[in-house]
Amino acid sequence: MYTAQPSSTIREEATMSNPSIAWQRLQAGNQHFHATSRSRQKAATRDQSPLAVVFRCADDRTASEAVFGQSWGSLMDISNWGHVIDTGVLATVEYAVDKLKTPLIVILGHENSSAMEASLEAWNNVNIPEGATRAVIEHAMFSLARQDASISNADELAAAHTVHTGVSLLQKSAALAKAVDSGQSAIVCLVRDADGGLRVCATFGDVAENEAPLLECV
Ligand SMILES: [Zn+2]
Repeated sequence: MYTAQPSSTIREEATMSNPSIAWQRLQAGNQHFHATSRSRQKAATRDQSPLAVVFRCADDRTASEAVFGQSWGSLMDISNWGHVIDTGVLATVEYAVDKLKTPLIVILGHENSSAMEASLEAWNNVNIPEGATRAVIEHAMFSLARQDASISNADELAAAHTVHTGVSLLQKSAALAKAVDSGQSAIVCLVRDADGGLRVCATFGDVAENEAPLLECV
């Protein structure tokens, strides 16, 4: 059953915080998806190799396909809060590159990141939180430490952290390092600004532009 949404912003926020209403909205959305996407699902199944695997920060809730103007399902999307490389993330990237022959790994950070803001605040106040949040803060602090603490705001930290995340993938995975070294794959580290523009912070491997690049957007 689909429930009509309230008109005011306040009521909208109240509705979004209700788990029952949120679940009803997802179910209603899935009914539309199920009815309209069968052809797209078949197309995606035929082509099992994603164009890229995108590892992004979860509090930027813009879908990777929207950011890069690609068709739904053409990218493998991984996200968590603050780009924490755990076993699951590493295995997923290795699966994309090694098994699916995905040619590009994208580390996608963003401006106005709450994860970077929390990490910078913890660094400045020498106050590391407990619980699972600690892992996010510690990962970002490694990026701060690599810059000799010269970073003064969260957007600068986001840029440094995407680069550090790319380096860490290569250090933690012999399979990924081999794929990049051989030219089978490459890594691009990016920060997305508030207007949707992208800033390249670092690349690993060969991503030089071809003379006649094939640009395909939707
Ligand atoms: Zn973020």
